[in-house]
Formats: sequence, structure tokens, C-alpha cells
Amino acid sequence: MTPTVSELEFTQQLSANPKSAQDRDAILAAPGFGDYFTDHTAVVDFSVDADGQGNWKNARIEPYGPITLDPAAAVLHYGQEIFEGLKAYRHADGTIWTFRPEANAARLNRSAARLALPQLPEQVFLDAIRGLVTADQDWVPTRDGDSLYLRPFMIATEAFLGVRPAREVSFRVIASPAGNYFGGELKPVSIWISRNYARAGRGGTGAAKCGGNYAASLAAQLEAEANDCKQVLFLDSFNDNAVEELGGMNVFFVFKDGRLVTPALTGTILEGVTRSSVMQLARDRGLDVQEREITLDEWRDGIASGEISEVFACGTAAVITPIGLLKDESESIGAADAKAGEVTMSIREQLLGIQTGTVEDTHGWLTRLA
Ligand SMILES: *Cc1c(COP(=O)(O)O)cnc(C)c1O
Repeated sequence: MTPTVSELEFTQQLSANPKSAQDRDAILAAPGFGDYFTDHTAVVDFSVDADGQGNWKNARIEPYGPITLDPAAAVLHYGQEIFEGLKAYRHADGTIWTFRPEANAARLNRSAARLALPQLPEQVFLDAIRGLVTADQDWVPTRDGDSLYLRPFMIATEAFLGVRPAREVSFRVIASPAGNYFGGELKPVSIWISRNYARAGRGGTGAAKCGGNYAASLAAQLEAEANDCKQVLFLDSFNDNAVEELGGMNVFFVFKDGRLVTPALTGTILEGVTRSSVMQLARDRGLDVQEREITLDEWRDGIASGEISEVFACGTAAVITPIGLLKDESESIGAADAKAGEVTMSIREQLLGIQTGTVEDTHGWLTRLA
């Protein structure tokens, strides 16, 4: 399916009853993560015509609200769904910017290819987020580090229970004001080693950002929470317990000799935009960045010997989060009350600074939205 797109113009239908400024301000005072949504949504529909040609059409900004779906819609039965996550930040001069959106557009299309969904032209992706953020710009927080989290997603809407790629699809973007993802001050998190569940397997969907991967991670997440951990670490148990990633974040190891190591992309790991940005910033400061296999044994031994001085996780939602303790039923690596490491904090400050406009954007990573 190679969809064509001819000059897709977004129409705009503004909400007749947006939140009052007072209600919105109350939400922005304590936004949390993913709890509140703005007044509008961006939508683009896709269908395959009788001649087999796929087309994106009906691009629109419309009031936020429930989606009407046929109960037989393929997404509800076979999980043909993908998503993205990126943030819009308000800079000190009031302008609104986002970070490397073209990387998210490209990744959406890689995920689409894996889930047999249609390719979305990058320009349509960018126009959708720009249109939505423009309509909802009052929702972009002003407080330092807060942001408007943007959630593009694509779902198979066709009513058909046979098993094949859907011929009707919808691409949408919703937006949600976001504070600090883990809440409160930046403390190292405790991580649970998943021994009973895998997130991804060879040839599977681990490299695609699809809802199914998250559904598959929830039982492990429950185990983690029952053991006082915030997140789960997934390992490749068929391969010497090679470290893969957390349920929604990539992992980095700072070595005291100046190496920065992250698991190589093997097809079972999600290629984070934050991951690639961290690698670039680390190279800029002369660290020896290595993408390679790193096993749980190397983690354990490195912490014990002091060779590994810091471990952190990264992703759009939480940016960079230090990892203190790693544990399972039989062992503990590190300490829950460990201090956030210097390299971790310094890269975090720099990345957040670029995103929020207080540090120079030397890589051209920012795109203005409004
Ligand atoms: C989204 C995601 C990440 C982080 O990617 P970013 O582009 O940095 O936000 C990491 N792992 C998984 C499984 C993800 O879904």
C-alpha cells in the first residue's frame, strides 16, 4: 500500500465549549501525567479505494471527544495500533517548540510498516501537531520543565473480522499537559528485573511503538509494583540475560573511565529519540559512546567493582531518570537511596535546556510550532 497524498489541508472546527481559563489554570497547576486532555484533537482518515489505491483525507482539527467505532473495528480485536510521544515546550519569550518531530514521524512509519498500517507523509504528521498545538496553545504550560505531551496514534478502524491489514485507518493526535513524569523531585528509581515475562522476541514487534507491547508489559509492571519498584527491566534470557530496556525507556551505563554504554538495537529494542539525542550529546562532550550487548552479569560486576558509576533510563515522558536499585526475588544491585550521578544530571540538564530554550540548540533539533 503506497498511499498518495495531494495537498492535505487541515480544516478547523473549534470547540463550542472549551475549558474555562480558570479550570485550565487549575489543571496546569498540577497536571500530573496523562490525566487531562486539551480542547481539540487532530484527525486524518485513510481508506483504500476500489482501485486499490490508498489515500489520506479529511484532515481536520476538531473538538476533543469520544471516537465512534464499529464494534467490529479491527483495532478492537487484533490490536492493529501504533503510537508516538513527543512534547511541546513554551520558551521564555512565549513561543512554542517541539523536539525532533521528524524523528517521531519517521519512527511512526517504521512502526506502521511492521504493523501493516499505511505510511503517513511526514508533512501530514507535522501539520497535525502544529495545527493541534496552535488551536490549544493556551494549554502549553509555562512552568519550567512542564510541557504539553503530544500523543499521535494510528488505529485500524475498518469493521472486518477477517485477519488481514485493515483498509480503513485513522491517524489522530491528542495532547495532555505534563509535569514531572515520576512526580516530585528527581530521585533515583528502583527497577524490577522481569524473570517471568519478556517484552519482545526476535522477529516480533519490540522495535515498533505499538500498544500491544505495552499490553504485554503490564503483568510484569504489576509484579514490579508489588515489589516496591517503579518500572520493569526486560532481559533477553535466551542470550546471557542481555539487557534490553524498561517497559517504556532505554537504558544507559556510565563507566568511570569515560565510556557510555547502551544496548545495541537488535530488533527487540525501541529506538528512542531521547536515546539517540543522549548519545549525540555524550559524543559532543568526548565520552566514548558504545552501542553493544551488555549483560546483567556485567551490570552486577560493574556496580560491585565501581567500574560502572551511574545507570540511567531515558525517554520522552521522563526525559532522564537515574536508576538506583535493580532487584528481583533473589538479589539486589545498587541502592535505593543512591544519589543521582553527575554525568546523568549534567546530560539531563543540557537536554532539558535545549528543549526548553535555555541552552543553545547546536544540532537543529527544535521545530517551532506556535
Ligand atoms: C517510546 C519508548 C521509548 C523511548 O523513546 P523516546 O523516543 O525517547 O521517547 C523507549 N522504549 C519504549 C518501549 C518506548 O515505547
